[in-house]
Parts: sequence; C-alpha cells; structure tokens
Amino acid sequence: MMLVVICPKCKNKQKTNPKVVASSIKTCVYCGHRFKIHSNQKKSRIVKKI
Ligand SMILES: [Zn+2]
Repeated sequence: MMLVVICPKCKNKQKTNPKVVASSIKTCVYCGHRFKIHSNQKKSRIVKKI
C-alpha cells in the first residue's frame, strides 16, 4: 500500500511509503520542503491510500 500526501508548500501530490510516514517527516520530491505527516488522518496531509 502507498499513501498519497499533499505538500503544504507547493501543493503537489505525491506517493509515499507508509514506512516513511512512520518516521513522520516527508521531504517533498518537488520543492524539497520537509513536512510532518500526522498519524491522525483528519489532521494529516494524507489524501488517500492506494
Ligand atoms: Zn513541495
């Protein structure tokens, strides 16, 4: 399973590995911005699970 998350800076959607989410910091592949992914899905930047 992969997660789709949205970057808060450039708003690009990107796939990420759930193992990366476990460490809670994601580096945007488009702009290099580092942001937290919350484990709470309502607060998270997770768009969907695929
Ligand atoms: Zn970005």
